[in-house]
Amino acid sequence: MSVFPFDGLAGEAYGPGSSRRHRAALIIAADSARLVDETGATLAEGRARREARIAGGPSRVVLPGEWVFECRDHGALDAALGPARGDWLIRAEAWHPRLIAVVAGCLLGVWLIWRHGLDLLVAAAIALTPPTLVEAIDRGNLAAVDRMFAEETGLPPDRQAGIRAIFDAIAAAAPPPPYGEYRLVLRDVPGLGPNAFALPGGTLVLTDDLAERFPDDDVIAAVLGHEIAHVSERHSLRQLYRSLSIYMLVALIAGDVGPVLEDVLLEGNLLLSLAYSRAHERDADALGIEIAARAGYDPAALITFFEALDRIAAPQGPAWRSTHPLSADRARAVEEMLSERD
Ligand SMILES: [Zn+2]
Repeated sequence: MSVFPFDGLAGEAYGPGSSRRHRAALIIAADSARLVDETGATLAEGRARREARIAGGPSRVVLPGEWVFECRDHGALDAALGPARGDWLIRAEAWHPRLIAVVAGCLLGVWLIWRHGLDLLVAAAIALTPPTLVEAIDRGNLAAVDRMFAEETGLPPDRQAGIRAIFDAIAAAAPPPPYGEYRLVLRDVPGLGPNAFALPGGTLVLTDDLAERFPDDDVIAAVLGHEIAHVSERHSLRQLYRSLSIYMLVALIAGDVGPVLEDVLLEGNLLLSLAYSRAHERDADALGIEIAARAGYDPAALITFFEALDRIAAPQGPAWRSTHPLSADRARAVEEMLSERD
């Protein structure tokens, strides 16, 4: 109902740049609006534009000449001019049960991302990782190991040749390398004790200490089989991306891996400090056993290796078990895997 002697929406008007209030009415025709004062004199005329509304406040309409019309009959303005931008937010704010549902939905989404999204994110990151970057990770990490604590291998040439022959057989029996090719690097790394580790691009490092303590070919084959399984299953890349997940999330959204991540990946030492998860160890044990057996070695040597590591005190630093946490469960699981093979 109009308080004026003519049709129109009753409200208040402000002149250009002025805070003086006029009682006014807005008369809306097909695609034009006319703002009139109490006397019926036209204040402004032309295209009317609604402004985004603040919850609890009036609806504002801007007219040519910067005249502003304010009115609380939101429904009538919606019908005449269409809803204002941002009105869905007003409605969500105004209707509290829906707001609670929105918040609950957000929390559920966060939980789902935390529970499953990380796996998807890591899988996406791995798929997006260019092979050249993975090869650079291997080179960078090996260079860092060499710079910080590794020496050329001191193993006699015939022992080196023997280990390389085992490695060749294991590599041939393993699934195809995910990046480039499998590569064995022999190093004297006193600080790491009897150790072997795999870099994501397929570089396997075996320490002199391990080769000297375990002259048995089957043990070397079992250890190399286990390490090569970590590579073929892309475990270190998965583990790496998992621990960098927040950064990865940002990098993926920003669409650029960026120099910081490259620094982290190529900084060396990082991979050595990453412990594989129990699930990865179980998978690498199972696949490693298959690979060693396929290559003609006795996979039960993995148990021998576990038991021997337990007896070795490693005062000189971390042994294989620091990057590959051993547990009674794990040895028992391997025994079960082996007995199932018989
Ligand atoms: Zn492992």
